Amino acid sequence: MCGIFGVFNVEYAERYAFYGIYALQHRGQESVGIACSDFEEVKAIKKPGLVLESIKKEELDAISGYLAVAHVRYSTAGDSGGINSQPIVRETSFGKTAVVHNGNLVNYLPLRSELEKKGVKFMHTSDTELFLVLLDEGEILPEGIDLHPLDRELLPRIFYTLSRVKGAYSLLYLFKDRIVAIRDPMGFRPMLMGRMRDAILFASESCAFDILQAELWREVRPGEVIVVDRQGIRTYMPFKSERKAMCIFELVYFSKPESFVFDNWVYKARKRMGELLAYEDDTVADLVVPVPDSGLVPAIGYSQVKGLPLELGLIRNHYVGRSFIEPTQELRDVKVLMKLNPNRAVLEGKRVIVIDDSLVRGTTSKKIVSMLRRAGAKEVHMRIASPPVVGPCFYGIDTPTRNELIANRMNLEDIKNFIGADSLMYLPIESLHSVVESPQDFCDACFSNNYPLEVEGTALRMR
Ligand code: AMP
Repeated sequence: MCGIFGVFNVEYAERYAFYGIYALQHRGQESVGIACSDFEEVKAIKKPGLVLESIKKEELDAISGYLAVAHVRYSTAGDSGGINSQPIVRETSFGKTAVVHNGNLVNYLPLRSELEKKGVKFMHTSDTELFLVLLDEGEILPEGIDLHPLDRELLPRIFYTLSRVKGAYSLLYLFKDRIVAIRDPMGFRPMLMGRMRDAILFASESCAFDILQAELWREVRPGEVIVVDRQGIRTYMPFKSERKAMCIFELVYFSKPESFVFDNWVYKARKRMGELLAYEDDTVADLVVPVPDSGLVPAIGYSQVKGLPLELGLIRNHYVGRSFIEPTQELRDVKVLMKLNPNRAVLEGKRVIVIDDSLVRGTTSKKIVSMLRRAGAKEVHMRIASPPVVGPCFYGIDTPTRNELIANRMNLEDIKNFIGADSLMYLPIESLHSVVESPQDFCDACFSNNYPLEVEGTALRMR
């Protein structure tokens, strides 16, 4: 769960990176970092917290240049120390090099211990560091690849690096004079290319181009390596993959609704999920209430199919910042109420269909149902615009462990009782598949337990 952004060839690149990564804030709130080069030297800043609050103007001035990469990071407690925040910067044989990464490697631990046995020193506990360390460990030229003379030194090392790592990576390298953008051959995480006058942009989601009034050009293809420097743009496809495994959860929850990722408008896909849910549902109700913000788009689809009014029965407080772990249950409940407030004006005496995008541990839904009942709702029918979450993600989304996932511990009836709803329905997995054109090109492991890549060694999750 991270956002990445890159920009090449514009004065004040650090500021464009700042706004670009701000537009991806929803992908990570733990830390933010920007690395920038003036074609002479790579400089970086990394701060805990949110983009707007953490980075000062003077800090941007100090790294000013013409090419930059940026990152917002989400991590779990315990792994949130600044040491692993990105960009990760390391001296390589190409000088000071920065890297930003969205995804998770599945062979980090065995690869790290192999390299440590050879005497390589690691400064971080993050899999992202491997992309820098491996640059100095070897070189290969995959068959059929014809390198441009300008790429003959660097690219064989990047190809070697990619031949050693396995997993999910949408990645940007920043060298002092070029950016290299890479998406893993299965294409787990999104990454797109944009254009803004003479500048080339890269971003996890297209919404980062909108803020800069830049043009969405195209997706970086799964397995593609793109070099951008003052001589131009050169692209290579060094490794073919048997299959693609784009993360369907990006369409369900993670990406912003106005973004274009994986060849899909997120809004359209998400609205369709709500429509399909409505076709399956013959419950009689008075109104549809979205859980803001994640349930809003499917709720629009649902209500339009049903011809039921959509009402804001839950209002979100947008000023909730970081919260801490409270010592008592009562105070923990207050924390949930900080974020959402029921709207008695529309709920009183009504039979309500509540729509959320996903149900993971079940704690949010439980709180919401009791909140709606306290505010006068006569019936509360919970509808989830995706299938039950049954598998943790090893490719970059933060999901709890298998045991914490409520669908692994209870059947539908028990979950319904646990959350206290009058009825509960999920979107069937076949319906979710029908939302995208080629479902076989997506990873749905969190809903199906069909993992496209096995984890080697102990799983290291969340990035
Ligand atoms: P839970 O209380 O664990 O069932 O959480 C479900 C809620 O969390 C839903 O409202 C989702 O929108 C949201 N959600 C789902 N997946 C994630 C995730 N990986 N990180 C943060 N929130 C999530």
